[in-house]
Amino acid sequence: MKRIPMLIDGRWVGDDHDEWLPVNNPSTGEKLTEIVNGTKEHVDLAVKAARKAFESDEWRAIKPFERGQLLIELAAYIREHAEEWSLLECQDVGKPLSQAKADIEAAARYFEFYGGAADKVMGDTIPIEDGLLNATVLEPVGITAHIVPWNYPIQITSRSVAAAIATGNAVIVKSAEDTPMTTQKIAEWFNNSRLPKGIFQHITGLGSVVGAALSSHPDINHITFTGSVGTGINVMQSAAKNVVPVTLELGGKSPNIVFADANLEDAVQGVLNSIIQNAGQTCSAGARLLVESSIKDEFLSKLVERFKQIKVGPGHLDYDMGPILNEKQFTQIMNKLKVASKKGQILCGGKRANIEGYENGYYLEPTIVDGLSVDDDLAQQEVFGPVLTVLNFDSVDEAIQLANSTEYGLVSGIWTKDIDVAHFVASRMRSGQVFINSYGAAGGIQMPFGGYKKSGIGREKGFIALRSYTQVKNIAIKFKQY
Ligand code: NAD
Repeated sequence: MKRIPMLIDGRWVGDDHDEWLPVNNPSTGEKLTEIVNGTKEHVDLAVKAARKAFESDEWRAIKPFERGQLLIELAAYIREHAEEWSLLECQDVGKPLSQAKADIEAAARYFEFYGGAADKVMGDTIPIEDGLLNATVLEPVGITAHIVPWNYPIQITSRSVAAAIATGNAVIVKSAEDTPMTTQKIAEWFNNSRLPKGIFQHITGLGSVVGAALSSHPDINHITFTGSVGTGINVMQSAAKNVVPVTLELGGKSPNIVFADANLEDAVQGVLNSIIQNAGQTCSAGARLLVESSIKDEFLSKLVERFKQIKVGPGHLDYDMGPILNEKQFTQIMNKLKVASKKGQILCGGKRANIEGYENGYYLEPTIVDGLSVDDDLAQQEVFGPVLTVLNFDSVDEAIQLANSTEYGLVSGIWTKDIDVAHFVASRMRSGQVFINSYGAAGGIQMPFGGYKKSGIGREKGFIALRSYTQVKNIAIKFKQY
C-alpha cells in the first residue's frame, strides 16, 4: 500500500513522525491507503510557499497563454491515464466505474476549457472624457484555497483549480478525508510540471483542523468551498474575519416537476437517473418528485417498476448504483427513513441491500417515499442517498410554490410539452440551474453552476467562474492635449 503524502512547496511531506488516517474502499470496506493527518503548521507552510510562488518573477514570467497550454497538457495527461484514474476514483468513492470514467473525462474538460480561456480574460476600456484613457485590468486574487468534498473529488477539484490557475493564482487544495487518491495524481503531475513549486499544493487531514486553519488563515485571498451548508457557514464566518471572498457550493434538495402532458417515459428516466447517480450522493440530485395529481398513480407505478430493476453492487463491477460512502452516512440515511416511515409510505427500497461477497459495503436499495407533507424533514432536508420523496400538485402555481419551498435552490427539472408552462415555471424557479425536459445534475462544464438561497454563493463552471478568481483594477491614464 502506497501512502499519500502532502505536496507542500514542491516537496512530498509526511513520514513516520506524522499521524496517518486510513482511506477505505466503500464497495468492499478494505483499506486503500493512508493520508497525513495534517496540522495547522502544515497549512502555515503551504500558505507561505504559495505566497512566495505567487509573487515570484518565475510565475510572472509565464505568459497567460503558456499557463493555458500547461493546463491543456494536463488535460491530455488525464485522458492518457483515464483508465487507471477511473479505477482509483471508483475505488475511492465507490461509484460505478462508468460514472468514474465520466468524472475523469469531465476533469480533463475543465483543464482544457479553462486552459483555452487563460489568455482571454479581458478587461474593458471605459469612455470618460477627452484626454483620459480608462481601462480595467483583471488581476489574479493571489492565493486561493479549495476545500473539496468526497462525492466528486476529481471533478470538483478540477473545476475550481483549473479556473484559478488559468487566471494566475497560487492554489492550495484540501481534499476530503475519504477521497484523496485522484487529487494525489494531479499533484504528481503539477510537481513534475514547469510551473513554479508552490503554485499547486495539496494538503490532507481533518476538516475541523486543516480545513479550519486554511479558511481562517489571514494570508488566503479567496476560498472555494464545496460541501455541506453547516460547514459552509463556518468557512464563511472565518473568511469574514479576514474580509476574504468565498465561493460556496453547498447542498440541495432539487425538484423534478412532472406535468400531466409530459413525455412520461422520458420523465421517468430523467427522475430515476437524477436520484440514483452516485447513489444519490450528489449535491444536485433530483431528490424531490413533484407530480401533477391526475397522473400520479400512473407515473409512480412506472417509476417504482424502474426503481426495482436497478442493480446495486460494487463500483468496479459497474452496476447501476454503488454503495453509500460509509457507515456514518448510511446510518444517517436509515435514521431519516425510520422517522419518515412513521408518517409516509415507502413504495420501494428503504432497506440495506446485501451483496454477496461485499458484506462490508453499505448498500441501500433505491427508495421512494410517498405520503409526506411538504414540511416533513425528509421532504425538506438533504438526505444524500438514493431517496426520492413524492408530492403532488393540482396547478402551475402550486407546483411553483412546492418547488421553491425548501431552503435550497441548486437545480430544478421541468417536464412538460407546453412551452408557456415550461418558460413560466422556469422564470419562477429560485434555483441556479433549470432543465426543461432533461435533468443534467449540474450539466456540462460550460454551464454556470451554483445555488440560490442556502445552496451557495457565486458560480462555478463556464466563463463566469473566472471572475471569482480575479479582481478588477481600474487604471486611469491622463494624457496631455495638443
Ligand atoms: P462537508 O461539509 O462535511 O466537508 C466538505 C469539506 O470540508 C471536506 O474536505 C471537509 O474535510 C472540510 N471541512 C469539514 N469541516 C471543516 C471546517 N470546519 N472548516 C473547513 N473545512 C472543513 O461535506 P461532505 O460531507 O464532504 O460533502 C457533502 C456535501 O457537499 C453535501 O451537502 C453536498 O450537497 C455538498 N456538495 C455540494 C456541491 C456543489 O457543487 N454545490 C458538490 C458536491 C457536494
